[in-house]
Amino acid sequence: MTFKELEIIEPIQRALEGEGYTTPTPIQEQSIPILLNRKDLLGAAQTGTGKTAAFAIPILQHLYNDRLHNKERRKIKALIITPTRELAIQIADSFTVYGKYTGIKNTVIFGGVKQGAQTNALRNGIDVLVATPGRLLDLMDQGFIRLNDIEYFVLDEADRMLDMGFIHDIKKIITKLPSKRQSLFFSATLAPDIVELSNKILGSNPEKVMVKPEQTTAEKVEQSLYFVSKKGKPKLLVHLLKTIPFESVLIFSRTKHGADKIVRILSKAEIKSSAIHGNKAQNARQRALGDFKNGEIKVLVATDIAARGIDVEELSLVINFDLPNIPETYVHRIGRTGRASASGIALSFCDVEERPYLKDIQKLIGQSIPVVEEHPFVSFEPDPTPTKTIQPSNQRKPQPQFRRPNSSNRSGSGSDNRNKYRKSFSSKRNG
Ligand code: AMP
Repeated sequence: MTFKELEIIEPIQRALEGEGYTTPTPIQEQSIPILLNRKDLLGAAQTGTGKTAAFAIPILQHLYNDRLHNKERRKIKALIITPTRELAIQIADSFTVYGKYTGIKNTVIFGGVKQGAQTNALRNGIDVLVATPGRLLDLMDQGFIRLNDIEYFVLDEADRMLDMGFIHDIKKIITKLPSKRQSLFFSATLAPDIVELSNKILGSNPEKVMVKPEQTTAEKVEQSLYFVSKKGKPKLLVHLLKTIPFESVLIFSRTKHGADKIVRILSKAEIKSSAIHGNKAQNARQRALGDFKNGEIKVLVATDIAARGIDVEELSLVINFDLPNIPETYVHRIGRTGRASASGIALSFCDVEERPYLKDIQKLIGQSIPVVEEHPFVSFEPDPTPTKTIQPSNQRKPQPQFRRPNSSNRSGSGSDNRNKYRKSFSSKRNG
């Protein structure tokens, strides 16, 4: 399947070629025809599947075609709501890139910064608005934005929206949308409360597309587990960062305070790092992210929410300094690695208090995470959760057992689609 076969118009095809996209990802292949047909869509897909292009391309195509016939002053015709500033910026960037030969204009609005630049951009006229819920409502209340002309509405990362307490904001926004519109709803998980919300937003009979169940993502990544005491974690982290070769590493902390503490520990060990989390000013977050993306900083420490928008192609290593108490979060975290390259490594630290979390995670991913038995700070506290262990190799002690995905003990029976998807990503990287 090619983008041309999906009947993507030439200006967008040209932009995709420029980005090195050769093959549509599974979610693109399935969603684009539905969306070009102006149907509502419920998409179960997470970040990393190519879902942004799956919705941005058809919206751009509709808007481009509409503008061919109607050159009136620009009105906001497409609205994309997403939970975090980082995601919002990333989505707007995608619209800019895919739409660069279409003449379709977008802007992005989010809280935590002054509104002047955002209201100026709105005044100049745009077709596509990407927004976080709070700032959108704020600017609507002030009269800068009206949603009367919206024809395309996307609610992105709905599960995260609910986790972050945006439900009332979303309900308020929906009441302001015209009832005749095309609606798209994306969520990584489809818990009952998510389905209930999707029923409110989508027409009575939306098309459904599900790609990459959570387990598949987990299978793609090489995972290792370190049993370590709470006190041993900082030492183990420093030890690993000094002994493992890596291009870039994202370290997850459950709390903002914990993230700052990790940065201080690393700084004492002369390892340069930055933290991003909700307490940091927007420009400090953007700067840290920029430094990380251009390789100036190789170690980024993040909380789960802040990490949602991080889209770094070469991310080869994720370290879970803390295990998350929500098992799906583990899958989101390790899904941050191995995205473009189809291979990634995730190392998780587990202290005795985190054993119940480990149990839940292993249940969700349907596999035991291989344990690195020998490392300098090992702590097997009583009653370990039964796990499959790997015998460490004598030569590489105490290095974890990193296997490349192709030589792993996974079944290797990925579908044709998945293989194609990987190929397209690796050709993008090589190209
Ligand atoms: P997303 O799930 O939208 O966050 O996309 C994940 C990553 O995949 C982004 O870095 C995109 O630039 C990239 N991507 C999206 N579609 C394709 C494609 N068809 N071929 C190669 N890369 C893609």
